[in-house]
Amino acid sequence: MINKEDSSKQVLTLADVPTGEYGVIVRITGHGSFRHRLMEMGFVRGEKVKVIRNAPLRDPIEYEIMGGHVSLRRIEARRVEVVPVTEEIANNYLFHGTITEETERILGKAGKRIRVALVGNPNCGKTSFFNHVTGMREKVGNYSGVTVDAKVGYHPFRDYTIEIADLPGTYSLTEYTPEELYVRQYIMDERPDIVLNIADASNLERNLFLTTQLIDMNVPMVMALNMYDELERNGDTLDIATLSELFGFPIVPTVSSRGTGIDEVMARIVDLYENLEEHTKHVHINYGVDLEKSIDIIKEEMREHLDLSGAYSTRYLAIEMLAGDKVITELVGKFDDDGSVAKVAGEQRAIIEKRYNEDAATIVSGAKYGFVRGALLETYTQGRDKSKQPAYSVDKILTNRWLGFPILVFFLWFMFQMTFTLGAYPQAWLESFFGWLGDVVTRVLPDGILKNLLVDGIIAGVGGVCSFLPNILILFFFISILEDTGYMARAAFIMDKLMHRMGLHGKSFIPYIIGFGCSVPAVMATRTLENRKDRILTIITIPFMSCSARLPLYTLIISAFFVKHQGLVLTSIYLLGIVMSIVTSLIVKKAAFQNERDQFVMELPPYRIPTFRNAMVHMWDKSVQYLKKMGTVILVATVIIWALEYFPQHSPQIDGYTARIEQVEADAGLSEADRDARIAQLELDRSACQIENSYLGRFGKFIAPVFRPLGFDWQMGVSIITGFAAKEIVVASMGVLYHSDAEADEHSSALQRSLRTHTWSSGPDIGKPVFTPWVAYGFMVFILLYFPCVAAVTAIRREAGRKWMLFVIFYTTAVAWLAAFAVRLISFAVV
Ligand code: GDP
Ligand code: MG
Repeated sequence: MINKEDSSKQVLTLADVPTGEYGVIVRITGHGSFRHRLMEMGFVRGEKVKVIRNAPLRDPIEYEIMGGHVSLRRIEARRVEVVPVTEEIANNYLFHGTITEETERILGKAGKRIRVALVGNPNCGKTSFFNHVTGMREKVGNYSGVTVDAKVGYHPFRDYTIEIADLPGTYSLTEYTPEELYVRQYIMDERPDIVLNIADASNLERNLFLTTQLIDMNVPMVMALNMYDELERNGDTLDIATLSELFGFPIVPTVSSRGTGIDEVMARIVDLYENLEEHTKHVHINYGVDLEKSIDIIKEEMREHLDLSGAYSTRYLAIEMLAGDKVITELVGKFDDDGSVAKVAGEQRAIIEKRYNEDAATIVSGAKYGFVRGALLETYTQGRDKSKQPAYSVDKILTNRWLGFPILVFFLWFMFQMTFTLGAYPQAWLESFFGWLGDVVTRVLPDGILKNLLVDGIIAGVGGVCSFLPNILILFFFISILEDTGYMARAAFIMDKLMHRMGLHGKSFIPYIIGFGCSVPAVMATRTLENRKDRILTIITIPFMSCSARLPLYTLIISAFFVKHQGLVLTSIYLLGIVMSIVTSLIVKKAAFQNERDQFVMELPPYRIPTFRNAMVHMWDKSVQYLKKMGTVILVATVIIWALEYFPQHSPQIDGYTARIEQVEADAGLSEADRDARIAQLELDRSACQIENSYLGRFGKFIAPVFRPLGFDWQMGVSIITGFAAKEIVVASMGVLYHSDAEADEHSSALQRSLRTHTWSSGPDIGKPVFTPWVAYGFMVFILLYFPCVAAVTAIRREAGRKWMLFVIFYTTAVAWLAAFAVRLISFAVV
């Protein structure tokens, strides 16, 4: 099918070199990660290779390279182009990692040939370009279908011979027309060294669609932005430098009818060719959570069942199979003996099509246009002719410079409002349910350790946490809807400028919003960020977004100590968290990521009407982590804390109280009411004494000096420590430690009362209240900023690695202490 009038038939590969003979590597063909892997094994241009064992039809082939032995499969060896050399030349030739004159001489003509394929839409000026470069006279016409197959021409540039193939024009690289099939097949089989994508600058949105398919194919690419004169005449502007950075390949403006820019294109081609091994930035088009998941599943199946060995990019094959491309499916079928990949791909396609109620190929194209629109919105401004505005009309409003931000704020306000007002009802039901459960267990079980464990440990601890579940679910439900409609992508767009100031990417905005619900899914949501710097910066600053688990503590403290301006106090806490995350991100960026400056396309996916089912599925995905945390970490932590506080049960002092209680009970001289009151008081004192004497109490006293400068007493210190497990536990711990009267009908108000009346029992402030509004505020600041929680830290470790986990642990805790100390100092200055 492919017309091979070029000289590629004479190309020799490592697989053709017989046993005992030598070759010097000219180039590696194949997709990026494959080249990279071979390079790591030492297969680079200019390196010499000896064939140790190469039996025809036998795999693998063994080679000696850089003094070591490696084996390659035949299919891999075919991707390594070589020139054969005699033993004598090989023995005298030493490669030191740089191309010397000697290398050039050995490689000869083979090393000086760059094979380039012209790919572009019909009428974008490919043939004009080709004619200009090669001096040939192919027919140029303002109609499509002129070029029917590959015409090959040659162009000497610097000391290279550039071999250019003019391919038929296509709008796409699928399987619908013979031209499309032909071009795709050409790229996959002939493996040009560089694909030169020619795009019509006066019709970017449509032309760049083809580009997205080339990006998926992961081929080395340079773009000629042709018809640049037209773009300028229309008064449009395009930020080429940014676009080039977004796409990850060089872009050169050209006017091929006049020959403008052609030398620059050739120069970029040679640069890219010479640095192919270093060229690592490869952009992925993000197809959204659902599709990406399916792509990963198909890829995984390929990894297990296929032996493609770098012949094709598995991501590309997976995307095409998901979209249902028959030719690619057939191709993969040749490598796949039991057809399992096709089966898995079919299943995934069915899932996607059912969920979106749309053809998978259409969904994939939609995402590609989203990528193009996102890139253009950032780099392209329309001049006089407004008719070709590359954006949806709704986008004109939603991402408008003036309207976008207020609309976003409104949506967020609405979302949080719904979370807390709607969530308040089920929260109250759950609270009364657990209250009832505690009562029942108290009545049914005999006094003793088991009852205590169940009621004060498990039901109080896990129940308290459970009551937050409705809020979390509602928040995630709204976030899922915003994501599914495509609005979140616009939100990222609106926030991008602001986020850039913090050294972050607009896409970080979504994880931050999720972070107000729970850090764990927020950390996982950073996976949509392509670049490691952005991911790390976002991950380590997410803990400062006050998660909903901290809210009960704020509520408790604010209603106890701030009568006026309650909303303001709460807002100030949230804002402080945001400010800290900005400061942190700026500092870490300066310190650790100075030289990394990458931009990525923010896809603007098509708007969709969200389905209830999808929103539920996505909500569930996000909530699962939270539920797991409750069933494991929180349960275990509550039991441990309970045990540390329950034991030991006896000490001379405690037994002294018990004896006095018995004495009072036996005292016949007291009236009944009098006796009950005195017993209640003694019991309260006894339990206070017991807690103080417990392991938890002793530990709290031991670490109390750390918290003393902040104005915190040891009970606060212990509550903070218990919050390591989960922030929800802090309030529960305080309830126990400040031995609020458990019989008061409204638990939290009882706790508030005992907080207000709690005084220092020792030290310089003896007798004075522990909680002043300033101390209370400092305490909230500490809770806001310190160690996120075990579950979040585990997630951070999984996503960012050990080093960053340790950083987060120490940094957040240090910042919390310093900030609370600052509050303390200010209080001294003010009072
Ligand atoms: P192909 O279909 O991609 O091979 O495109 P052609 O090379 O046949 O060009 C199509 C038409 O566009 C011809 O009339 C060319 O003269 C014209 N053309 C090519 N390049 C440019 C350019 O950079 N600017 C302008 N204004 N016209 C061009
Ligand atoms: Mg043509």
